[in-house]
Amino acid sequence: MTSVDIDRPSTWRLYRNGMCDHCWGGCCTMPVEVRLLDLIRLGVTTEDEAKNSLKKLVKRLSKEGIISGYRHGTELFMLTQKNGRDCFFLDSKTRRCTVYEKRPDVCRQFPDIGPRPSFCPMTHKDSVSK
Ligand code: SF4
Repeated sequence: MTSVDIDRPSTWRLYRNGMCDHCWGGCCTMPVEVRLLDLIRLGVTTEDEAKNSLKKLVKRLSKEGIISGYRHGTELFMLTQKNGRDCFFLDSKTRRCTVYEKRPDVCRQFPDIGPRPSFCPMTHKDSVSK
């Protein structure tokens, strides 16, 4: 079986129930762009703060290391990738989402919607060097 390369969706595995149990969290190492409503649900901002000044909000979230950028055209916020890889909200030891109940819509929709719908960059926890 060919090994999974996160950057090459053609190598990904067809998603099946239970796959996540032994996964290293490959999907949480890809760039994640979220909407303002996701950030509000995550509890890192409020509607009022965003209405007040989007510029100040972007500055604060960037300073706190939560986001790495904001695209005006798409109105999407890019979540910071720790060490240039893991999602800001991924626990680097357990490889689990620390905000699972409040996770962004894009995470809820994966892998139904993603680079290769229904396929995952699934990698076994014990096969990844840390
Ligand atoms: S918010 Fe949670 S589910 Fe979404 S990419 Fe980050 S760690 Fe993964």
